[in-house]
Amino acid sequence: MTPRLVDVALPVPLFRAFTYAVPDTLRHAVTAGSRVVVPFHNRQMIGVVLGESDGANLGGVVPKAIADAPDEQPAFRGDLLAVGRWMADYYVSPVGLVLRAALPAAMGRARRADPAVRTQRVLRLAQPLDSLLQRDAVFKRAPQQRALFELLESLGGQSPVAHLVERLGCTEGVVQGLVKRGLAVVAAEPVDRDPFLARAAPPPAAVTPTAAQGAAVAALRAGAPGSTFLLHGITGSGKTLVYLEFLKHVLHDRGQSAIVLVPEIALTPQTVDRFRAVFGDLVAVLHSGLSDGERYDAWRALQRGDKRIAIGARSAVFAPVERLGAIIVDEEHEATYKQGEAPRYHAREVAIVRAREAGAVVVLGSATPSLESWTNAQSGKYTLLSLPDRVGGGSLPGVRVVDLRTETGPGAPVMVQALRRILSAPLETALHDRLARGEQSLLLLNRRGFANFVTCPEGHVVACPNCAISLTYHRAPERLVCHYCQHAEPLAATCAECGAEQMRQRGVGTQQVERLLNERFPSARVARMDVDTTSGKWAHAEILDRVGRGEVDILLGTQMIAKGLDFPNVTLVGVIDADVGINLPDFRASERTFQLLSQVAGRAGRGPKGGEVLIQTRTPGHHAVTCAVAHDYLRFVSEELPARADPPYPPALRLANVVISGLDERGVAACAQSAADWIAMRLNALSGAVTLIGPAPCPVERIKGRWRWHLVLKATRAAPLTQVMRAFLTKFDLPSAHDLRVTLDRDPVALL
Ligand code: ADP
Ligand code: ZN
Repeated sequence: MTPRLVDVALPVPLFRAFTYAVPDTLRHAVTAGSRVVVPFHNRQMIGVVLGESDGANLGGVVPKAIADAPDEQPAFRGDLLAVGRWMADYYVSPVGLVLRAALPAAMGRARRADPAVRTQRVLRLAQPLDSLLQRDAVFKRAPQQRALFELLESLGGQSPVAHLVERLGCTEGVVQGLVKRGLAVVAAEPVDRDPFLARAAPPPAAVTPTAAQGAAVAALRAGAPGSTFLLHGITGSGKTLVYLEFLKHVLHDRGQSAIVLVPEIALTPQTVDRFRAVFGDLVAVLHSGLSDGERYDAWRALQRGDKRIAIGARSAVFAPVERLGAIIVDEEHEATYKQGEAPRYHAREVAIVRAREAGAVVVLGSATPSLESWTNAQSGKYTLLSLPDRVGGGSLPGVRVVDLRTETGPGAPVMVQALRRILSAPLETALHDRLARGEQSLLLLNRRGFANFVTCPEGHVVACPNCAISLTYHRAPERLVCHYCQHAEPLAATCAECGAEQMRQRGVGTQQVERLLNERFPSARVARMDVDTTSGKWAHAEILDRVGRGEVDILLGTQMIAKGLDFPNVTLVGVIDADVGINLPDFRASERTFQLLSQVAGRAGRGPKGGEVLIQTRTPGHHAVTCAVAHDYLRFVSEELPARADPPYPPALRLANVVISGLDERGVAACAQSAADWIAMRLNALSGAVTLIGPAPCPVERIKGRWRWHLVLKATRAAPLTQVMRAFLTKFDLPSAHDLRVTLDRDPVALL
């Protein structure tokens, strides 16, 4: 008899599957989507079964046998396996690497039980006793065993031993009795630990949806399986309530499950709290700070159906929920949904594909939708839902622009001018008013550190030795730091280039603003939130909780403070410098700036006291600024879309960025040129369906010691682009220099 063969995806950088024989002992455990342990080049590896095989891959070689299949249920059900295959194809990434990226790290290791996972003893029913007569007979002289048996039944047939013993006040002996009679078995199970459970979930506020919210919920309930909705709601319009009401229907009326994606979970504890307040223990929070063991626990709880809502950042799109009914993508425009390393997927796009596979409905929510999603809603690919007003008749805050070119007070003493470049007179007065009234303020500066860079009078800038980027000056501890590679060095007294002595700091960072605030408002309680103050696992939530409790007067921070916060006592939002990022050499620079300004402005005036926004800028006429001032998303779209059509960039077409990097500058340039020549030859055959730009040095020419060149592919349709990318990655011969590396980024969020 010929052995049964299956194709297995292994986490190796090869575009192929591997064929293994299924030993008879594992025949039930091995099915499409199961994890298997297989021998591969003298070691054991974890792979995923893709499906049955006809042995065509073997080429006459005798197949090796699968060593183990550790899971009771396949790790990848049908919809997830299909998503993995789609990702492998679309992002041109080996399917084994894609599938491994979709699993919790603890499940990618070739070991039966992960030692990082604490286990507990659980009791499981082994045999049903259907009739009452049978039951009476079996438990005639064992009433305690009967009570245990029936409690276990009522708990779904499985429960921790400790819990049962406590509930019944019985001894372990009763448990052993049931086991001895073959009615139940004791097994070891991972313990669930969810650190978010330590946060007290506030009771759900009794709110009635507004007419607009109600209409949106009704549309979602009527949504066809696999369809996508774009929920465009201005800040404070109550998008979260729409999600909650729709999910109540999905969970309670339809008995389905859901996934909720948020840009960064540490930044959105309030949003998570609101879901937990409504759905309690059904929620699994997939936090990036979870240990491998904790993540594994949550994953298992979702797979078992003990948890039915997975909330998390982009990788939560792979959560193994059963009977998926809905996927919410909150703040769908956020760049954090794009994974920065291979496979470079966009969680929003993966969500849409997964929903199609599972027959679920996708809700993309934002006050400032990405131009891609907006265009898809205009073309009818997505259904547009709008929440045009703030709830409770609240209005959007008034926005004032402070033109820093005229506000810095020419003719004023130099010290005053320097101060006014950071804190203009109107902003200082506005802060004063808030402090006097006991109200809170948010201040945004999207640049951390003390000073952006250090320069000598000749204009020599202190740069990173490993990256083509200037070093940022930090205080406490005092040093120069590279934000790309973390290289740090002491601040030198003289210029390394010319020996000049007067080294000057340029460009203000959050540390400097903090010091200035402390000087100007000595009694104010100032909190700073940026990468440097939030390295602890719960640092974000702690700072935000302090703001919520009214223990902070001024919250100063980078873009971290722009998202999702809902503090009614915040009546002032100040933007220290709106121009940070506006001139980056990237096609999305304007869109990013508009989104950031709109989002942070939306944090003001969410309570009955109202609020105002002050934006300091040197480019008050830029449409990213003027449209944010007017809270006018539609006008922004109408001004930005033409700019993205000529020369064409997304959403006018699709992009792929091919980056070639290496240690030798000339070698990289030469390789980029031959790659471009290679691709150009293939493009002729495609008669213009794909065009090639470059090669050229990347905007950041060197990172971590590696020189970087890139080529950009543009196409209006997806298929020819996939074809070219695939041919290039599988057929182009990299020069033998081993340090050369090619990365491919489809639908890049930035071209840096
Ligand atoms: P968004 O996410 O659109 O910015 P939120 O969902 O945070 O808005 O809602 C803003 C505020 O309005 C929240 O405090 C929320 O509890 C409240 N809210 C939302 N919908 C209603 C409603 N129908 N009635 C009363 N309050 C509401
Ligand atoms: Zn560096």
